[in-house]
Amino acid sequence: MVDRGFRQPRYDEPLVFDLGRDGRRGFSFPDFTEAGSEEIPARIRRQDLRLPQLSEIEVVRHFTRLSQMNWGIDTGPYPLGSCTMKYNPRLNEEIASLDQVQMVHLLQECEELQGALELIYRLERALASLTGMHRFTLQPAAGAQGELTGCLIMRKYFKELGEERREVIVPDTAHGTNPASAAMAGFTVVEVPTGQDGCIDVEALKGAVSAERTAGIMMTNPNTLGIFEKDVLEIAGIVHDAGGLLYYDGANLQGIVGRARPGDMGFDLVHLNLHKTFSTPHGGGGPGSGPVGVKEPLEGFLPVPLVSEEEGKYRLFWEMPKSIGKVRGWYGAFPVLVRAYCYILTMGGAGLRLASGIAVLNANYFLKMVEGIRGFEMPFKGPLRKHEVVLSAQQLLEETGVTATDVSKALLDRGLHPPTIYFPQVVREAMMFEFTETETRESIDKYVDALREISALAYSNPQVLKRAPENTSVGRLDEVWANHPKTMTLSHRMCPGKGDQGAA
Ligand SMILES: *Cc1c(COP(=O)(O)O)cnc(C)c1O
Repeated sequence: MVDRGFRQPRYDEPLVFDLGRDGRRGFSFPDFTEAGSEEIPARIRRQDLRLPQLSEIEVVRHFTRLSQMNWGIDTGPYPLGSCTMKYNPRLNEEIASLDQVQMVHLLQECEELQGALELIYRLERALASLTGMHRFTLQPAAGAQGELTGCLIMRKYFKELGEERREVIVPDTAHGTNPASAAMAGFTVVEVPTGQDGCIDVEALKGAVSAERTAGIMMTNPNTLGIFEKDVLEIAGIVHDAGGLLYYDGANLQGIVGRARPGDMGFDLVHLNLHKTFSTPHGGGGPGSGPVGVKEPLEGFLPVPLVSEEEGKYRLFWEMPKSIGKVRGWYGAFPVLVRAYCYILTMGGAGLRLASGIAVLNANYFLKMVEGIRGFEMPFKGPLRKHEVVLSAQQLLEETGVTATDVSKALLDRGLHPPTIYFPQVVREAMMFEFTETETRESIDKYVDALREISALAYSNPQVLKRAPENTSVGRLDEVWANHPKTMTLSHRMCPGKGDQGAA
């Protein structure tokens, strides 16, 4: 078999502003003046647009080359832990791009939207049965927005009860969005540490829970170390006994879908990331979908409207006086809902169960294969992992000076997209791999071989790794500068002379 690897072509692609020639155009408008229409008055005509001037084929080639300089799930594995970057079946795309989906508009009358409303209703039922929840809102546009929605529901719930509960407990392994969402909803965040076994330290939790102040706990299970919180039932008892609620961050549902349900573990609210577990391409900013499900006592607080059904007719149900209101325009990212529904139907219960099983198998296969590679350790030894594995390159750093960043750049040189690094923050030099069920054994083996080779290099010639990546179109970026709002190479070119105001 020919092994072509996953290497990307290497281009030295200029900016679009440096391509083309003055006066070149990729379009031709009809002459409006001939048709008798007025010319645009000179005083509102822009003179300084400085748009790139290219023919159509130059534009196509430029963007095609840029797309080939990029990494994507269609060209190679993308084991970005916690992100569940799995392959999304083309069938879902095809259905989501049907006119009946794309042309739907929620200003249409409900009678004209029966198909769309039925799909929303059925997807809600499917998610409820997969999670053990009573009802779902499909409005939130992302996981983080789902969390905020959940926190606002918790706040309103305690307000109705007349209780002043202002604290939300968040474990130190949590995704950064958890404390941020709780804080945005007006709560004070109380952090609890992780114990020796990679699970929440239950004794510390007992100390943090208060029957007066605790509104609830936000948990991810399996947590971001890929470990199933074995004490979840005890934790649920502790928080419920104090009158608090349990919020489940379901972005990691991939590890248990079809096998265990947050509702059965005692959670009162959950959000899911349809763009992770339920098959929508993501990265680069969306669109996403973060539905929120609740147990029956919280139903009335969900955002309006819900979709209700009566004698086979579907309608938007607004009569919810305790609702927290709307959290997004219209009804959610409808094509994402369509993909999720399609995915669930085509997989079926047995298929979803098999998928989570293979995802967990892939993670643990990788774990076994990297065991003993010098410099990489697995923190929190012991239990098998669920869908993801966190390694630490701390020993490698101490013994060779090579960091998790250097290892990631060296993976890029070998045509492999790196894992998530430096998260979760409880692991030093963290490298978090999630292969998902759609990766083959050969793909995983490529990572194992690459890590072994990189480790050997680190101990023999670490300087080479400091220069990586050398086989990519773009070398090592200044990551701080790349994220800085004053990074204005582009805006400088667009508006020369605008000085330091830049794109910020
Ligand atoms: C991705 C993720 C989130 C946030 O989801 P977004 O859709 O990116 O807002 C929250 N928690 C965990 C564990 C995640 O992996």
